[in-house]
Amino acid sequence: MSGAGWNVIRCSACSTCHGHRKTGRSCPHCGQKLPSDAEIVATVATAAELRIEVALANTPEELRDMLRKRLEKNDALFQPEEQISFKGLPKLLLDAKDEHGIVTRKSIIPILEKSGNSLDVQDLIDLAESQGLLVRLNTDCWQLLE
Ligand SMILES: [Zn+2]
Repeated sequence: MSGAGWNVIRCSACSTCHGHRKTGRSCPHCGQKLPSDAEIVATVATAAELRIEVALANTPEELRDMLRKRLEKNDALFQPEEQISFKGLPKLLLDAKDEHGIVTRKSIIPILEKSGNSLDVQDLIDLAESQGLLVRLNTDCWQLLE
């Protein structure tokens, strides 16, 4: 048993988990007095971790994996690589356009290569269209919206 951080404790009376600095004296859910040897489900260092662990501990076992995956997936949304490609996109298209604001695959490819971005030229165009940065004029010709 650790004195530092937070413990996730399971109440033996109502089976609900809660967080406590040490072992706690009574259950905040049902008021039952907790024995000094109450079940400690997990020990964490921060209040933020505690919130996740309590949520997981109070989730039915068969749903826990799904919840944990969802929490991990949320983290994956904030990969720095993705932010760079979004941020650099308008600048890249500005460099690739001609004097009429027209871009083609041929005009984008050298700029894309120079930027060191690993995006495929078609993926880049799809992305720009979905962001409302480009409007297709014909099969290989897009108008840049500024
Ligand atoms: Zn309880």
